[in-house]
Amino acid sequence: MKQLIILSCLFFISLETFSSNLVEFSSIKELPSGEVRITFKLSKIALVKSYALDEPSRIVIDIKDSELKGELENRQNHPIKKIRASKDGSTSRIVLDLYESVYWKKPWQIEKKDHVLLIFEIKKDKKLSKNIRDIIVAIDAGHGGRDPGAVGKLNILEKDITLLIARELERTLRDTKGYKPVMIREDDSFVDLNDRYQNARKVGADIFVSIHADAFRLSSVKGVSVFVWSEEASSITAANLSKKELANNPEVKAKIGKLDVNDFDEDAARTLYQLVYEAKIENSIILGNKILDKLRLDPYTRLHKKNVEFADFRVLKSIDIPSVLVESGFISNAEDAARLKGKPGRRMIARSIFLGIHDYFKEKPKPNTFMDPVQSNIEYTIQKGDVISEIAIRFGVTVDEIIDLNNLRGKAIYPGQNIKIAI
Ligand SMILES: [Zn+2]
Repeated sequence: MKQLIILSCLFFISLETFSSNLVEFSSIKELPSGEVRITFKLSKIALVKSYALDEPSRIVIDIKDSELKGELENRQNHPIKKIRASKDGSTSRIVLDLYESVYWKKPWQIEKKDHVLLIFEIKKDKKLSKNIRDIIVAIDAGHGGRDPGAVGKLNILEKDITLLIARELERTLRDTKGYKPVMIREDDSFVDLNDRYQNARKVGADIFVSIHADAFRLSSVKGVSVFVWSEEASSITAANLSKKELANNPEVKAKIGKLDVNDFDEDAARTLYQLVYEAKIENSIILGNKILDKLRLDPYTRLHKKNVEFADFRVLKSIDIPSVLVESGFISNAEDAARLKGKPGRRMIARSIFLGIHDYFKEKPKPNTFMDPVQSNIEYTIQKGDVISEIAIRFGVTVDEIIDLNNLRGKAIYPGQNIKIAI
């Protein structure tokens, strides 16, 4: 009898996990800013893959494990020629046929009370010769709110350091053409581990970078490490760390295994999409190595481990988004604590992460983004208060290089001005 109950429970759970996601057309409208916004209604968060094609111009959105329901609206909305849908196995495919090339935003998902909205926007831009979009970088500042993370020397809290480094990275990505940063937490608030990677999926992140700082009982231990996810952590230290994360956080522990109905189940998906998952791990290692290579060149920072480490950090477990975790130092070590307490030290960590990300996309260009092909010069928009010497530090170049490349000798820079930087 007992066995029967367990069996029926399992059956119920699997039904819940694999029941088809219904996709229904919701609306199409032109926003005052000129974008055309198309909205679909889903029954739950989906694994969505989107890409643009040229000649003829079109955008394809694949919604895995879903069923199309109802009719598509085909009112003419320039530059959309037609919206059509088809089925490829268990995947629903939505295709936007376009009259011309557009700037497009990767679809994102918003969770409502009893459904999910899948939204995407396109905007015509006469200057574009192909469809193009920004690369979305999810920045995850570790801990926050009632979870301070590690407590270090000089009274510094891990959650404060991680947010400051995250903001520094956000700023660089925001002002560099072709990137769009999304902060998983923007202030001192608590976000649980499941929500962190779930939110990265919802915003359509291309990569996910989690920022942490460590503490250890031996204050002599110092330096930076970079981690990627692994079911079987290959390093004992890493395994202890992830256990510690759980032990320190009973609420997180309680939440594990209890995903909301609407959430995308990464554990089930890992079995279903083995190849996607393998590519994610491979790309995470490449991304981790690119960041580590830049950290290695940073004169202010020492490496704790010279290779990318593996750990079962839950926050990195998304099945398809390359994800890395950067431990920016040991705040239990006086030298590291002093380095991370100061802005220059934090800026160097953010700079290495940014340059590593950029190198990653040089090796793994995303089709139909500004990084395909990767430009040898990035374009940076001058912000109020910017000075060239500080920009040079942030991108790891010299002041003279910036001045020469942009022909700035004897000229002042001004907010809104676009300059080129060779990195
Ligand atoms: Zn941490």
